[in-house]
Amino acid sequence: MSIVVEDFHKNYGETVAVAGIDFTVEPGEILGLLGPNGAGKTTTLRALAGILTPTHGRLLIAGHDIVREPVAAKAELAYVPDDPQLFDRLTIWEHFRFIAAAYRLHDWTARGEQLLERLELMDKRNALAAELSRGMRQKLAVGCGYLHRPSAVLLDEPFTGPDPRGIRTMKELIREHAAAGAAIIVSSHLLSLFEDLITSVLILHRGQILRHGPIDVLRGELAHDGRQETLEELFFRMTETPTVATEDGRTP
Ligand code: ATP
Repeated sequence: MSIVVEDFHKNYGETVAVAGIDFTVEPGEILGLLGPNGAGKTTTLRALAGILTPTHGRLLIAGHDIVREPVAAKAELAYVPDDPQLFDRLTIWEHFRFIAAAYRLHDWTARGEQLLERLELMDKRNALAAELSRGMRQKLAVGCGYLHRPSAVLLDEPFTGPDPRGIRTMKELIREHAAAGAAIIVSSHLLSLFEDLITSVLILHRGQILRHGPIDVLRGELAHDGRQETLEELFFRMTETPTVATEDGRTP
């Protein structure tokens, strides 16, 4: 199931956060969403998750318009923000029960236990969310996101909280869901952690797309003197010398 963004604009009062972008994430694709602070990444993810209303444009999750058919779209979606809002007075397992009830899941307990094992949260299953560390909170949010087997997954900075083993598990889960046909968007500033994970890249800058394409194609285009650029080098080069042309052809 795909994620489709068509002519998406978002203004906050006078501030233009996203200035008209189009892209599609196909089933099985893992799109790395990159860009400097304030580029519009979180705005795009929050609009796709139905938390923000677009100023203009259309956002489709598995064929459902997030504004017009929010329930059908959200049934297919997992959104994990970088500061997940949990229920402090519920335990880890109670969070899973709540998600299972909200999504009307049956026979979910074995999957819930397997997710907790993999995320190394099993010994905390009866701990309140308020008692968890930052990395554990992020892992719980990821577990909640994957419980209903979403076909579209949005992860905002998923690698800042978890420890190295947690990061490895996060990556495995992302790959497995993509292999099962999910369309996935991951935003992160930790470019080196990204490199072996993503299949395509979208670089946002000042609310516009600087570059978008399969990672291999992008790397191939940008290989210099027989040397392959790293994602980090590519990012710095692209965002230090913006090539987005304004309407009159100037570069900003
Ligand atoms: P970061 O890497 O710092 O998380 P980002 O790419 O996620 O940045 P956004 O949070 O989408 O960027 O912000 C894009 C622009 O929109 C910025 O100029 C920001 O100041 C502005 N912005 C974001 N949220 C609001 C808001 N609630 N009210 C007003 N302006 C906002």
